[in-house]
Amino acid sequence: MKHANISIFIPHIGCPHKCSFCDQRTISGTQKAPTGAEVREICSKALAESKSHENTEIAFFGGSFTAIPKSYMCELLSAVQDFIGDGKFKGIRISTRPDCITSGILDILKEYGVTSIELGAQSMVNHVLEANERGHTAEDVYKASDLIKSYGFELGLQMMIGLYESTADDELETMERIIEIRPDTVRIYPVVVLKNTKLGEFYQSGSYRMFTFEQVVNMSSSAMAEFERNGIRVIKCGLHASEFVEKDMLGGFYHPAFRELCEGLIYRYNMEYYINETDRNYIFAVNSLCISKAVGQKKSNIEYFSRQGIDIKIIGDGNIPKYHVELR
Ligand code: SF4
Repeated sequence: MKHANISIFIPHIGCPHKCSFCDQRTISGTQKAPTGAEVREICSKALAESKSHENTEIAFFGGSFTAIPKSYMCELLSAVQDFIGDGKFKGIRISTRPDCITSGILDILKEYGVTSIELGAQSMVNHVLEANERGHTAEDVYKASDLIKSYGFELGLQMMIGLYESTADDELETMERIIEIRPDTVRIYPVVVLKNTKLGEFYQSGSYRMFTFEQVVNMSSSAMAEFERNGIRVIKCGLHASEFVEKDMLGGFYHPAFRELCEGLIYRYNMEYYINETDRNYIFAVNSLCISKAVGQKKSNIEYFSRQGIDIKIIGDGNIPKYHVELR
């Protein structure tokens, strides 16, 4: 069954940092921190409206949840207690910074029934973290991840592709280190340069040497394929479509269907593996639910092969795992 979130955005509040890419007000699309009563109302409405909720989590996103004042954090967690459990939502998901995790914090989260914790790792290379003023190191990510796993929480890591001063090798290293940590889930966020951020200044001054869009789609699709191959679910690839982002973005790698572009590329590479110099007609089988991903956005894969004089037909087979291709 498909996983879903009731997303509650907690803005910048409590975060002592100003990372190069962050304007939380833009990302979360709201400036006001919700009260416990407002959160209760959101959950009550969502519970009444949703048909199946057993695979849905209440998710506090947008800021550094464990860095907000403890009394406010507990107010928010208390507010959702009546909506968790049998016949209600499955659990609580939070996102925070790697250096805002301690045993004391995890004890509180456990007590309130938090199930999943996501850490904004962003990069696992210290010079990139430093250049983007993250205020934590790769070692903090290792430490926090170990602690979270030792408490039995589901662990999620977030990775950004294309940060200031990051090279293709740095992106590869980040991917490999994340695989080494073995989180349950990963979110891949290609960088989007927003107004009123340090990245925005670098971008406008011309000091930000950026990858091309194609390079970032390439890197994101190989990261996606590698994570999935290693049993790590990629629950997001690309920033969610939002009028705030579209309005406030100066540059970077935003596309409303970014994930589909990456998945199309994974299928293209996997089909290319079977193409030889003589055969011009191929039938490929993919998972029945993934036919459109294999065909590519606006039939891009069919056309890509067609331009080389190759005809491909894609058929569905429920037994084939996601992203795998079989030649028929
Ligand atoms: S830690 Fe998170 S909330 Fe704080 S500035 Fe960085 S990205 Fe924004």
